[in-house]
Amino acid sequence: MGRHKNSFKNNKISLYRLKKNFKIPFARVSASGNEQKYIEEVLQSGWLTTAGKAASFEEKFAEATKAKFACAVNSGTAALHLGLEALGVKPGDRVFVPSMTFTASAEIIRYLQANPVFLDTEYGTNLVTPEILKDAIKKNPDVRFLIVVHYGGQAAQMLTGDEEGIIDVCKRYGIKILEDAAHAFPARLNNQMVGSLGEVACFSFYANKPITTGEGGMLTTSNNEIYERVKKMRLHGIDRDVWDRFTDDKPSWEYDVVEAGYKYNMPDVNAAIGLAQLEKAEEFRTERQRVAEYYYEHLAPLKHLMDLPVTHVPFRDHAWHLFPVVLKENAPLNRNKFIEKMAEAGIGTSVHYKPLHRMTYYKNKYQLKASDYPNTEKTWRGNVSLPVFPYMHEEELSYICETIGKIFIG
Ligand SMILES: *Cc1c(COP(=O)(O)O)cnc(C)c1O
Repeated sequence: MGRHKNSFKNNKISLYRLKKNFKIPFARVSASGNEQKYIEEVLQSGWLTTAGKAASFEEKFAEATKAKFACAVNSGTAALHLGLEALGVKPGDRVFVPSMTFTASAEIIRYLQANPVFLDTEYGTNLVTPEILKDAIKKNPDVRFLIVVHYGGQAAQMLTGDEEGIIDVCKRYGIKILEDAAHAFPARLNNQMVGSLGEVACFSFYANKPITTGEGGMLTTSNNEIYERVKKMRLHGIDRDVWDRFTDDKPSWEYDVVEAGYKYNMPDVNAAIGLAQLEKAEEFRTERQRVAEYYYEHLAPLKHLMDLPVTHVPFRDHAWHLFPVVLKENAPLNRNKFIEKMAEAGIGTSVHYKPLHRMTYYKNKYQLKASDYPNTEKTWRGNVSLPVFPYMHEEELSYICETIGKIFIG
């Protein structure tokens, strides 16, 4: 407990805290491990962009996810873009993607001049299920790509268990899968790590994600061709690796450009933070699980007014990036009012998400109707995410639960 207190006091990196002056912010970064030490090493090296730290972050991340390859990039969105490009999406193609996600999951489809086909999700988990997918395939037999979001840190039903898994359904119909694992590190499904379940998975290390590099992302894959393509496209379509150019005997000016690529490499300063965060990833996960368990126990008496998140994986396999609750119709106040009351009490909350079918761009461009997404709509009417971060104090947790009780019951 002493250690927790310390990291609480020493933490000066809370944007949310500063901005809104919350007693308990929605997210609080913990960076009291080797972050400073590794950053110092980068500064001493005299080379601040991609080099040894990024390479070793890739190696360690591949080990942690049991993936064959890992490719570090400068955002989760960049990883998703590179992944979808490498899967071969072409202009005019259609791609399944859930509506209940961050816009990055869908905007990357537009980067490639392809078109999203939005899916409803299961109420409670906010995941696309094999059933939802099969139904969508029947209605859209031309679609050959699927973006799966492991919402909140819980893996979607990718593998065959009690029912046919998403991977098998996709194999049967020749559909390629890109996993948006921005919330899901470290996470497991049937003892396999997210990152090595399917062919390509993309992680985000944005400031409030389960581990952070400030800004950053990682793509993992088991496929040689995808790996080679992603490596090339992440750095200008150059035929030599960003790091090889500085370690090879061949002079660094000698390279060829074989594609019009992108500028998506991860700088070593960010990778240094990532390496330190990675060392703590399981501890952070366990800490977030402790928070989730506290909520399940202490919010149980309010279940007639509020739905708690549904899980289909054991708690220890869940990354617990989010704890999204849904206020029911019979709750004494609506979601917006609830968020206001929480803010008045000094507690930061958030909403994951306002669904994409309600966002102006997608709604107008694709003429989307809310009635086509009944579960997503039911969630959207009442969804609020409660604070989840490592080393949250028992007093903070009890204050949050007591405040919710007071807001509801008085
Ligand atoms: C954060 C996030 C992304 C984008 O990651 P960045 O690192 O911010 O680019 C993509 N998808 C989901 C579901 C996310 O939450």
